Amino acid sequence: MNARHEGIFTSAEEAITFACNYSSQQYALSPMAKILQQGAYGSGRGLVGLDGAGQAGMVLAEIATLDYWQIVALVARKAIKSESCNCGSPCCRGWRMTELFREAISQLADQVAREARDVLPVHAFRAAVLRKHFGEKIHVLDEAEKLGIDEHPANRHATTIRKWIRELEKNGLTALSERLDEVGMLVRTA
Ligand SMILES: [Zn+2]
Repeated sequence: MNARHEGIFTSAEEAITFACNYSSQQYALSPMAKILQQGAYGSGRGLVGLDGAGQAGMVLAEIATLDYWQIVALVARKAIKSESCNCGSPCCRGWRMTELFREAISQLADQVAREARDVLPVHAFRAAVLRKHFGEKIHVLDEAEKLGIDEHPANRHATTIRKWIRELEKNGLTALSERLDEVGMLVRTA
């Protein structure tokens, strides 16, 4: 086996998850996270301790070479999405979107309107479809109703937006896989 291709990650997704978790202070501070890290990555793939910070940095450096919109999509997927809120406002439900996730969604909602043909000129609706896509527990049709958008156009536009974001994410992962493979960070299973 070529030493250059011994690799450490089995996929681009695993690499991003590792890099993002490693970079997140919340994650680093959690004792449970430390245990999990030892379990999952302490198996001779060199991702524990000092080495881990270096590996995370290398992955982030490769992510940084991707197309900007691919980066935003990958960030939105891996970002911590909500945090607790005690603002005391009567409408507060005790949680809010994190700044990082809100910003990523907002930028993507602008970009899909520029790139995809015929999407509704309602930023909040496009954002809702994207939030749902990235795993938030909301109902797109409920959001549409609040915004005064009928079910039929809502479904049609949601389909267009989903198609766009899936494609963007898929292309981002493919590009990152190629980058990581080139620098020898992916495990060659063949
Ligand atoms: Zn609040």
